[in-house]
Amino acid sequence: MTAKLIDGKAISKALKADVRIATEAMVAAGARRPGLAVVMVGSDPASGIYVRNKRIACQETGIHSVAHDLPASTSEAELLALIDSLNADPTIDGILVQSPQPKHISEHAVIERIDPRKDVDGFHPYNVGRLATRQPLMRPCTPYGVMIMLQKMGIDVRGKDAVVVGQSNIVGRPMALELLMASATITVCHSKTRDLKAEVGRAEVLVVGTGKPNMIPGAWIREGAVVIDVGINRLPDGKLCGDVEFATAVERAGWITPVPGGVGPMTIAALMQNTLESAQLRQGLKGA
Ligand code: NDP
Repeated sequence: MTAKLIDGKAISKALKADVRIATEAMVAAGARRPGLAVVMVGSDPASGIYVRNKRIACQETGIHSVAHDLPASTSEAELLALIDSLNADPTIDGILVQSPQPKHISEHAVIERIDPRKDVDGFHPYNVGRLATRQPLMRPCTPYGVMIMLQKMGIDVRGKDAVVVGQSNIVGRPMALELLMASATITVCHSKTRDLKAEVGRAEVLVVGTGKPNMIPGAWIREGAVVIDVGINRLPDGKLCGDVEFATAVERAGWITPVPGGVGPMTIAALMQNTLESAQLRQGLKGA
């Protein structure tokens, strides 16, 4: 079997166009334009690219974006004070603090300081708890983007055996909660999993986010599986690749996401969707 490609670039473009339409309709009806504050501490080159892409996505969707580029020497107290002022700013609906932050800043302290209604990354324990109890508010962007992508492709995960490889707070864990909320049967694997090959081989839906280039050989994949590769890895030759060995996986899977052009663009589009939803919530245009 040769897999059908899931074109995250095209789906994200359509989602951003929908966000733009909803944003302009809101503004035309007299509501305030959604606002996103993007905070970056220091000058990590990869973070710089992510932040720039998020700001471009704001322009594409009509979301007002405010940049806070702080020096690496910014103290945790100074960053928390900025978050307090953004929490209190009525024109700001979403606050995003780009990771990684310098070592002297606690990421947990930063996440917990953000008003959960403005936590458009969906990382605050309140939002993780809302997802775990099937009442999602701000949904973590990467798993939310994956779920939107599956829905747009008409892929129903209900009752399917879904295997998530990776258990991080931003990818694996919320991905498992999203799939469980959609009534898949979930297995979560990580570096201590005893027989990864056997777990992967059972998966009708496989989501991989490990940060290990090409670590899942295509030969492990169940014939016809839906394969979602979250990994983004830069090889020594400068090319990007995922965590799944694409060339062999494409011969066995039923559906597969490419890297680049799969989950990456969906994450940013989901961030725009969250910012719109936050603005709608905060202006009483939508219920929690
Ligand atoms: P982390 O390093 O935080 O987590 C990696 C996870 O993979 C851990 O749970 C780890 O297990 C597991 N793991 C590592 N090696 C193995 C192995 N040999 N077998 C099984 N499990 C393993 O990474 P992130 O979750 O932050 O990111 C994962 C990947 O996704 C990266 O490539 C990142 O660039 C990408 N990413 C892409 C995004 C997108 O928009 N497309 C967004 C966010 C991330 P353990 O917990 O036991 O250590």
